[in-house]
Amino acid sequence: MPTYDYECEDCGYKFEAFQKMSDPALTECPKCGKGVHKVLSAGIGISFKGSGFYVNDSGSSSPKSCDNCSKCS
Ligand SMILES: [Zn+2]
Repeated sequence: MPTYDYECEDCGYKFEAFQKMSDPALTECPKCGKGVHKVLSAGIGISFKGSGFYVNDSGSSSPKSCDNCSKCS
């Protein structure tokens, strides 16, 4: 079961919720009852940054002889 991170927009309270994929997103802070929004998990953020760094790194060091190659583009 996936875990979702939420952060309260009013008091800043952060909490995790275990929900099924089909469950609706939480909308109320368990502490103050104000609105909450989902926060992307650290795992997703790290993998996204890593992927971007890899693309930038390989692009700067590899030759550009394949610019017109349909297989490499
Ligand atoms: Zn709150």
